[in-house]
Amino acid sequence: GPATVEEVDVVVVGGGPGGSTTATLLAKSGRRVIQLEKESFPRYQIGESLLPSTIHGVCKLLGCYEKVRDAGFMHKRGGSFRWGTNPVPWNFLFAISPEFAGEGSYAYQVERMKFDKILLDNAAENGVDVRQECRVNGVDTDDSGRVVGVRYVDADRTEHHIRASYVVDASGNSTRLTRHAGAERVYSDFFQNVAVFGYFEGGKRLPAPDSGNILCAAFDEGWIWYIPLSDTLTSVGVVIAKDKAKDVINAQEETLLQYIDRCTIVRDMLVDATRVTEGTYGEIRLRKDYSYANTRFWGKGMVLVGDAACFIDPVFSTGVHLATYSGVLAARSINSVLDGTMTEERAFTEFEGRYRREYAVFYEFLSAFYDMEQSEDSYFWKARKVTNFDRTDMAAFVSLVAGGYSGEDVLTDAAQVIERFRSSSDALTAAAAKTGGMDTDSGQRMGHMFSAPVVREVMEEMNALQARGAVTEGATEPPLLDGGLVPSADGLAWAEPADVHV
Ligand code: FAD
Repeated sequence: GPATVEEVDVVVVGGGPGGSTTATLLAKSGRRVIQLEKESFPRYQIGESLLPSTIHGVCKLLGCYEKVRDAGFMHKRGGSFRWGTNPVPWNFLFAISPEFAGEGSYAYQVERMKFDKILLDNAAENGVDVRQECRVNGVDTDDSGRVVGVRYVDADRTEHHIRASYVVDASGNSTRLTRHAGAERVYSDFFQNVAVFGYFEGGKRLPAPDSGNILCAAFDEGWIWYIPLSDTLTSVGVVIAKDKAKDVINAQEETLLQYIDRCTIVRDMLVDATRVTEGTYGEIRLRKDYSYANTRFWGKGMVLVGDAACFIDPVFSTGVHLATYSGVLAARSINSVLDGTMTEERAFTEFEGRYRREYAVFYEFLSAFYDMEQSEDSYFWKARKVTNFDRTDMAAFVSLVAGGYSGEDVLTDAAQVIERFRSSSDALTAAAAKTGGMDTDSGQRMGHMFSAPVVREVMEEMNALQARGAVTEGATEPPLLDGGLVPSADGLAWAEPADVHV
């Protein structure tokens, strides 16, 4: 073994947005943090369409808001959807939350190579000891089974051990570390899809002011995302049934082009475009993107953040939001324990409760969203009707994902949520059908959809996070969970509600 073992407060595994958020906030609180990333940045990653709370909330907290703003990313004011009963695309705009009607009502479409590097460099600038080309191969535990550090191999293939009070697993969807937190990955039966994606130059843009929107278009065999990354570069991916994956592996380009051909609206957008065939964007990639959640999000000495903990279908661009949100929560919990202000159990129950709540609300929202598409003869869409699911299987997964908190029965009754969502989305579709065009003046029509309680729930925590970014000092929030904690005045730890004036 090595002669000396380094010792720090926290080791963060992974240099993606989840890892960089956690590491930066801890370093800002004065912790000694080492962040280990196996690749050399910039590296490719999928997940390019972001939500406003990541930009206006988390990036402000991290102190890289200006760098992200000045990087030239495409402005995204919402999503345009060819989805549901209406054959014409309709909009889902961010400008629905009155608090953020102006400044904060947009997000960006990002090249993750650039975005993730800004966040990782920012971590280093805030004092995180960032080490690239360092692959973590396992964790070290003490006699009681508590995680007390990691072992990693550097670019020279030398093995090192680091001791730490906490290990954060933010190593993404291919993590091999989660079992050390006593966690087991459980897959949802509902979103068993596979995505095949590539890049095009010269694709059309939606009419202004929606030209930066993500376009999601349902067709018989699944749906396609169309994400404008610059004036000329577009990310295009088809999401199809997982059991089609075997046909895809040997013929990915053919598959992508064939499916695009069957989706009228995207085919028309790409009519003058050429597929990028060189460089990082020249590759066609495949990901099985079905949803999963771990049975535990933390164990003694270890916490799971981002895709390492859970992942949900990409149709609503929630991946980076969940990764950065859980990074904020994890940093608060670690700080609280290291400050000596509360027990590990208390601090991490709050982490897991809030994280599961956010995941569960999105999970239900997305189930309802899938349920909304009506293609009577389609195998893909028929198989994804909520009504076709064994209620007990669905309830079991939903109660797993909602597990850590109580107080809102709504999440244990998927059917009820879906009914509420359906009635509001029907009103929306009917209203949009009347005008027979792309909905560009959102106000009135979106009002229907956003009056649905489930959508309010989806927005609630994102708005709280965004408000945090606007007012970093002295902000007060009521507890989110029954008997739960509130963020400390600086937002970097937890406090008992009685100790903070709310
Ligand atoms: P990652 O971004 O995966 O980062 C993990 C990092 O850890 C990587 O850099 C990796 O190299 C490193 N690492 C891994 N193992 C080790 C190790 N052993 N040692 C050291 N380092 C290691 N999300 C959105 O927000 N919007 C979208 O539009 C969107 N579209 C998607 C489409 C598809 C098809 C899929 C599958 C996902 C999509 N997502 C989207 C989700 C998004 O990609 C992820 O949720 C997000 O990248 C998670 O961030 P993370 O920080 O948890 O992990």
